[in-house]
Amino acid sequence: MKLVGLSKSYDRVMALDDVSLQMGVGEFIALRGPSGAGKSTLLYVVAGLLDPDAGSIEVAGRDVSKMSGFEKTRFRKEVIGLVFQDARLIPYLDIRENIVVAGGDQNRADQLIVSLGLEGRISHIPGELSAGEQQRVGLARALIHCPELVLADEPTGNLDDVSTEAVVFGLRNYVKDGGSVLVVTHDPRVLAEADRVISLEKGKISL
Ligand code: ADP
Repeated sequence: MKLVGLSKSYDRVMALDDVSLQMGVGEFIALRGPSGAGKSTLLYVVAGLLDPDAGSIEVAGRDVSKMSGFEKTRFRKEVIGLVFQDARLIPYLDIRENIVVAGGDQNRADQLIVSLGLEGRISHIPGELSAGEQQRVGLARALIHCPELVLADEPTGNLDDVSTEAVVFGLRNYVKDGGSVLVVTHDPRVLAEADRVISLEKGKISL
């Protein structure tokens, strides 16, 4: 991933101010900074969910800023794995169905279920799971299509220790397999696992 000179403002707020960042394949980067620093805006811009005012975004050799809306949707589906603070599962589907909801291989779903410690919960629906178990399902859903880049926004924000460990382990394993992970976090257990920690303040990277 290569970001060059990214800027984005909302009304008079400069959420991103000339941000440049390069990230290698197989790298795990943690992004931290105070509330309002522009962290979520950065993730949304990289995912093609929000257009920057200036700058370029290259992910997996593709120029996101030049894509049409349709191409961005396809790009997100194929190249990006998104993980939010809350798992956003579909309440009436069981775990396996939630993981493959946007397509994906059942065998891979089962491997992810085992590697994230969910094998005892396969036939359960989200309402029967703890927040941590739901988040692990959300992570499996993000990884099912083997995305080049995982973007995670405070993925362990509300989790118990066991689930935090499972999520961190899942992200670390993913990087070992050649994926890249950019995670917004304040969690020391996630920061400790990162190859690099980058701070964002008032829309600027402060190393
Ligand atoms: P962080 O994720 O670091 O808390 P955000 O990217 O959410 O920061 O926000 C960066 C700045 O942009 C903040 O000042 C926030 O109030 C502002 N902002 C974010 N989204 C919007 C929006 N949709 N409209 C107006 N201002 C926004």
